[in-house]
Amino acid sequence: MPNRLTIVMYHYVRPLEASRYPRLKALELEHFRGQLDYIQRHYRVVSMEQVIAASRDARDALPAHPLLLTFDDGYRDHHDHVLPLLTQRGLQGSFFPPACAVLERRVLDVNKIHFILASVEDPGVLVDFIFSAMDEARVHYGLEPNHVYFSGLSSDSRYDDPPTTFVKRALQRELPEDFRQQLTERLFSQYVTSDEKAFAEELYMSEGQLRHLLEAGMFIGSHGDQHYWLNSLSPAHQIEEVERGLRFLEVLGACRDDWVMCYPYGGYDDSLLSILRARGCALGLTTEVALADLTANDPLILPRIDTNDLPTDVEAPPPMDFGGQGREPLFDAVSRETS
Ligand SMILES: [Zn+2]
Repeated sequence: MPNRLTIVMYHYVRPLEASRYPRLKALELEHFRGQLDYIQRHYRVVSMEQVIAASRDARDALPAHPLLLTFDDGYRDHHDHVLPLLTQRGLQGSFFPPACAVLERRVLDVNKIHFILASVEDPGVLVDFIFSAMDEARVHYGLEPNHVYFSGLSSDSRYDDPPTTFVKRALQRELPEDFRQQLTERLFSQYVTSDEKAFAEELYMSEGQLRHLLEAGMFIGSHGDQHYWLNSLSPAHQIEEVERGLRFLEVLGACRDDWVMCYPYGGYDDSLLSILRARGCALGLTTEVALADLTANDPLILPRIDTNDLPTDVEAPPPMDFGGQGREPLFDAVSRETS
């Protein structure tokens, strides 16, 4: 039985019910606690340093049922809620903050979209808003009819209903860049807040809080600077993003020798991989949903599963792949989610 590595990806982790945005797609803190109980019963949590060592030398094999905890996007949730629980339990987490969110206190568009969605009861309202803006801008941008976008963008999400899926994809990626940025801006100030800086202060960790993480033995890796889809950039622009991400690690005092890249939205391409190889990147984390296999996978494209793929109740049945002759692994590559 191959000793597959389970890498779990987390985003928001907070006392959701009691928060100002209870509709946010976040992991309720109590459920995180339950999931850690489950993980500690069935897995051995390993550190990033162990995974790097094992990826380089088969003699540094990981313990049975290894699991790595990863937290994307540098949310303050990770300092306030995740860090105390991990410290209590003696577990290491790996954290991937985008430099611009921390240094410039800008709210990433992807986060604006999450909070816009969390601020309205009916996502249909947002679809109508986007449709009427598209009507006005159709000639200027040469847009297709609205229904073409809706049917193309609203299906096949693992977690979201069709209107929500449409809003996310239209604003994150599919509409022309300056147009979707304007739309996101308008919706954010209408439904969430017009004080972006104050919001960013609340949403993301500060440099000082990131240093607390390091002092507590946590691992910090790169999530780039501006949280771009790196596979949509020119090689020169990719280099710039990688370099800025590395400078940020340096500013924080995080290790730059064995550094790890976590691709925003899971986006990478061959050009990016060779840039990373040239800079000694040890591991790369994607959003492809599968268990990782350090003997078979390219270390720069390791798949992860989502927190939603694991139970949050300690009494839940054990994962399927334990010691089972002829039993299927828990996860085969099934999909790519770009929250
Ligand atoms: Zn991200």
